[in-house]
Amino acid sequence: MDASHVESDLVNVLYTEEQIQARLAELARDIERDYEGEDLLIVGILRGAVMVMADLARSFTRHLEMDWMAVSSYGSGTKSSGVVRILKDLDTDISGRHVVIVDEIIDTGLTLSWLTSNLASRGPASVAICTLLRKPEALQMPVDVKYVGWDIPNEFVVGYGLDFDEKYRNLRDIGTLAPHVYS
Ligand code: 5GP
Ligand code: MG
Ligand code: MG
Repeated sequence: MDASHVESDLVNVLYTEEQIQARLAELARDIERDYEGEDLLIVGILRGAVMVMADLARSFTRHLEMDWMAVSSYGSGTKSSGVVRILKDLDTDISGRHVVIVDEIIDTGLTLSWLTSNLASRGPASVAICTLLRKPEALQMPVDVKYVGWDIPNEFVVGYGLDFDEKYRNLRDIGTLAPHVYS
């Protein structure tokens, strides 16, 4: 791969940097309204949610705290199994606190379904989910998502934190890959 021409590997741009920033600002307003007067902790799921966390957090005008978790989903190949291992846990005790999990995409929903129950078992005041993207056709577990940027078709997307073989996370836009990348 020629790293200097990474943008040209995108066959189709779904969302531009400007569209993403505008949508995240709307989501931040929604969250601010819903948690007005409450303490708030947002939890980013490494590594995909790094960009969403950074830009969402900076769209807030109120105080909040940020923490991170890293999880790995056991499964064959690219398929999520729903069996999740915590690679990096929260540094924060969330008991009695309002928590919003921030992720970049919900595909099968298996990871976030497991994570939501895991965090709920720690006695928080509330746990909600915010995701930039969701693929409704791929959902295998009902996941109650309070904040969604966009629902997208069941296609593999990259950019803005989303990787293919650990690359493309640094793209500013979100899009689908050109076929020549796979071959
Ligand atoms: P699931 O919801 O299936 O448990 O897992 C979601 C995870 O699968 C995401 O955090 C992401 O790492 C990966 N994933 C799912 N769909 C896509 C996609 O279209 N593109 C990329 N790059 N990763 C995806
Ligand atoms: Mg993720
Ligand atoms: Mg990935």
